[in-house]
Amino acid sequence: MLSHLDVVAANPKEWSVDPFEGVVKDGFVWGRGALDMKSMTAMEVMVMKLLKRNKMKLKGDVILAATADEEKGGEAGAGWLVRNHPEKIRADYVINEGGGLAIPIEGKNIYTIQTAEKGILWFKIKAKGRPGHGSVPGTADNAILRMNRVVEKLGNYRAKMTVVPTVKQFLSQITKENKTVQQALMLLLQNPDMGDQILDMLAEKDKAMAEELRASLRMTIAPTIIHGGIKENIIPSECEAVFDCRVLPGQTPTEAMDEIKGLMPDADLEKLEFETIQANEPS
Ligand SMILES: [Zn+2]
Repeated sequence: MLSHLDVVAANPKEWSVDPFEGVVKDGFVWGRGALDMKSMTAMEVMVMKLLKRNKMKLKGDVILAATADEEKGGEAGAGWLVRNHPEKIRADYVINEGGGLAIPIEGKNIYTIQTAEKGILWFKIKAKGRPGHGSVPGTADNAILRMNRVVEKLGNYRAKMTVVPTVKQFLSQITKENKTVQQALMLLLQNPDMGDQILDMLAEKDKAMAEELRASLRMTIAPTIIHGGIKENIIPSECEAVFDCRVLPGQTPTEAMDEIKGLMPDADLEKLEFETIQANEPS
């Protein structure tokens, strides 16, 4: 039984409770990490206690691993365990988070099992230009404007839709359960090329499902960090932005990077530097 103890950052200003206090309110635990994923850690620890308490006779070992560093790729957590103590965690099966949340459909919950995962490509682009004085913009080559074009392009890019086998199976099962979205999903299975129009329609009924599906059907790119400029009146010669790209099973981060570079006009491309921050193959 695997779980992670680390959480992503939380800005207290955006929270109605202290994100790190673990407030119990209205019958729920409120806090960063309550869902992702202390809830499951608590269940897994409880399983260990119950096994012990009831003196259960087992055919094999049950191993509990509650690790760090999952949110940044797991190298210092699960990765460290695999490298340094493989004998302690070797197991036939692993139960972990990520198979999916309960999907509420027509009054009941559908529970999914994860059979594939998108890959990660986190990358940084540095846009170069020529500095100048803010009072005479025409004499400079503003790196922020160059980056603006890049962010606009990548942020709005809709990569080709591909229905990978595991998503295809998911769609056909969900279609059986959910009459409301049945028509849209059948249409989607038959016409993946019209995916975006079909999902735009579905979004009017069920926005969450439509966007989950859109992300399951294509490589996505989200700009997440941007830095540029140092002073009010200096036109910057550098601007940096970070992007979170997720690739479909069947596609490699390297192929995704080539596709991304291919989107840039040549005139810009020679003034852009690409740096991969982290790349994980899809599985
Ligand atoms: Zn998690």
